[in-house]
Amino acid sequence: MIRIEFCGAVGEVTGSGYLVHGDAATVLVDFGAFQGGSDARERSASLGPVQPENLDAVLLSHAHIDHSGRLPLLMAAGYAGAVHATPATLDLATLLLADLGRIQEADLARENRRRRRAGLASLRPLFDATDVQRVRDRGRALPYGRWQEVAPGVTARLADAGHILGSASIELAVGYGDSRRVLVFSGDIGPCGAPILRDPQRPQAADLVVMESTYGGRDREPQARTLARFRDILREAVRSRARIIIPAFAVGRTQLLLFHVAEAIREGVIPQLPVYLDSPMATAATLAYMRHQDLYDEELGGLVRSGRIRQDLQSLRVVESAEESRSLNEREEACIIISASGMCDAGRVVHHLRHALWRENAHVILPGYMAPGTLGRALADGARQVEIFGEPLVVRATVHHLSGFSAHAGQGELLDWLADVAGHRPRVVLAHGDDAARMALRERIHARYGISAECPAPGSVISLD
Ligand SMILES: [Zn+2]
Ligand SMILES: [Zn+2]
Repeated sequence: MIRIEFCGAVGEVTGSGYLVHGDAATVLVDFGAFQGGSDARERSASLGPVQPENLDAVLLSHAHIDHSGRLPLLMAAGYAGAVHATPATLDLATLLLADLGRIQEADLARENRRRRRAGLASLRPLFDATDVQRVRDRGRALPYGRWQEVAPGVTARLADAGHILGSASIELAVGYGDSRRVLVFSGDIGPCGAPILRDPQRPQAADLVVMESTYGGRDREPQARTLARFRDILREAVRSRARIIIPAFAVGRTQLLLFHVAEAIREGVIPQLPVYLDSPMATAATLAYMRHQDLYDEELGGLVRSGRIRQDLQSLRVVESAEESRSLNEREEACIIISASGMCDAGRVVHHLRHALWRENAHVILPGYMAPGTLGRALADGARQVEIFGEPLVVRATVHHLSGFSAHAGQGELLDWLADVAGHRPRVVLAHGDDAARMALRERIHARYGISAECPAPGSVISLD
């Protein structure tokens, strides 16, 4: 019998982790941190049912922290096996986990100062830089499309998931008695027709499919409409010589926005104007994207080979120092500043917002989901007054919230992703979505394919004969 334990991301979108027990081996698919919610830290500090000494292999679908964030913890607990992922995922995971380590360190230092003042003992870090380095050292590159034995009786193959650079769906063939079963873990599925990356590959045959359901409840705003709105904002800002601040996630969103700015310049929507990339993480991630050009879709591949994209982005400036970042606030020209963090709750973008929000002649583009409680969410909700660094600030800038640049497939695209494999009548398990999204997708899957998808609860175990 094959058993699958759910270690997170059931009924919610973070904390992905699926423990697969075969006859002869146990492998772990993803091991992400929990994000948001008051107990996220505590839950992210737990290995759940994972026993490092009984674990034969780890497979990582993509670099995002909600899929990779507990890997350093696993190393700290003594896991000595390999982490299989695409070369690009290993590259980006190193970046994101190192950043997670720095954030953890800063948070812990603050918390320990508070504890000392209260006469309490200091807390120890969950993991350190050595553990992050171990994830990198244990990384085994597995390119798309190649079967590889990862543990006794378990072979794996990765397929492009089109979500971020290197993202994959993971196919596992698990031996059991004299036969074997094929399990597919979707990872996060990207949208179709988006620039930069190829469209997600659909699984062809499986006995069991564990799929994400982030947008299981609805379709996103069509990309074409979002892009048209984005171009209108650029046009208007250039006409009124305004500055445009775009808070963006370092991995994926930043590169997508740069692509769209380049395209707008190439097609004459806006003239050449200064474009500042002001986030060390976003810069590092963009360099990682440039190291893996073999993963680009046909369009971007062509633009890179012809040198066209470099020409379009000739006015792109990478801001290195914090001092240089501050100096941008004194400039009076129309310009675009892309900076992190994506939800405006930390990073250099907060300084840019502090200098721009109170001005009428400024635009802020929020290019995605903003979690409750963040400055980004307050702006998206139309707040006319916010607080930055404890100082009240009036919002006179024009704030735009664009939701169609998501790296996730919408409901219709999720259904399409299942189209080929559905003919094999696999068991379908819905994960990585809140319950409303899972239920809505479950209903649609039943209506279209006649398959009753399962929605397991946290901690549940599924057996496959
Ligand atoms: Zn993701
Ligand atoms: Zn995810």
